[in-house]
Amino acid sequence: KAAIHRICSGQVILDLSSAVKELVENSLDAGASNVEVSLKEYGQEYFKVIDNGCGISPDNFQVLALKHHTSKIMDFPDLQSLTTFGFRGEALSSLCALGDLTIETRTENEAVGTHLKYDHSGLVTSERKVARQIGTTVTVEKLFSPLPVRSKEFSRNIRREYGKLISLLNAYALIAKGVRFICTNTTGKNVKSVVLKTQGSNSLKDNIITVFGMNTFTCLDPFSPCISGDWKVEGFLSKPGFGCGRNMGDRQFFYINGRPVDMPKVSKLVNEVYRTSNSKQYPIVIMNFTVPAKAYDVNVTPDKRKVFLSDEGPLMLSLRETIEKIYSPSHC
Ligand code: ADP
Ligand code: MG
Repeated sequence: KAAIHRICSGQVILDLSSAVKELVENSLDAGASNVEVSLKEYGQEYFKVIDNGCGISPDNFQVLALKHHTSKIMDFPDLQSLTTFGFRGEALSSLCALGDLTIETRTENEAVGTHLKYDHSGLVTSERKVARQIGTTVTVEKLFSPLPVRSKEFSRNIRREYGKLISLLNAYALIAKGVRFICTNTTGKNVKSVVLKTQGSNSLKDNIITVFGMNTFTCLDPFSPCISGDWKVEGFLSKPGFGCGRNMGDRQFFYINGRPVDMPKVSKLVNEVYRTSNSKQYPIVIMNFTVPAKAYDVNVTPDKRKVFLSDEGPLMLSLRETIEKIYSPSHC
């Protein structure tokens, strides 16, 4: 049974970035305005996410890391009107199965915090009081150590995994309003470097400037075309003639209702149109789709990065038209 749990968990937590993503989303769900990601050896030794959110109440300590425990979904119709990132109660239970999980937390109702350690099956193995501010710190040490093959793969690809993680943190730092993000990495003999630091501003524009700098920002134009039906798109696109190199994953961000998602078809479309007039570069894209909750489904893959859209056809058509107007004005 433990082996099955390990295998299933490996499908929710695919790699370093999907692990950290779950923790960051939990912090955002908890209403945090400060989210700190702290890595040791690029996340290989440990990663922790420290927040100043609402904390976890003591009734939840024992069940928190058990499979399908969630405090976020009240009844089934809720699935249609999700506003939280999490809802399946799989992340902490999966992380437990794949690494050594400890949690430190305190709510406003407690005078002191609690430090909890969990075993691979999600049970509490130790509990003690600690001094701390309101909020939660979740630490995962030695991710994938119970899966030897994945663990080897993880060390071998650590730089790539780390790069992917930074790009993911950028995705949240850009879209979250009023949330300060900081990410640090400690290597070797306690050399700590700050990898990302934002001020938690309230506009996408200011977030872009803090994350990518003024130079990048001046290459962008705001973008908010009217597209089909209930759908709305907003964001920034590089001006014609400006772009970035081949490694565009670092400069293309897609969101649905503020949730970072992969949208390979939209990315392909924008690239295609842009590259008919500038084949040397790729466009910088930051696009947030606002859609009714019932028009999309994030349950396609366990890590919730892939989405199904209803009415994708008309959406893509009108998006193409708009983008053609931007990049090849002769078209309209
Ligand atoms: P989900 O997010 O789908 O509910 P998780 O496994 O990610 O499931 O988390 C389980 C539960 O643990 C959450 O429902 C929430 O109650 C609690 N929790 C986890 N992380 C935090 C956090 N940073 N702050 C407050 N509560 C948290
Ligand atoms: Mg969650």
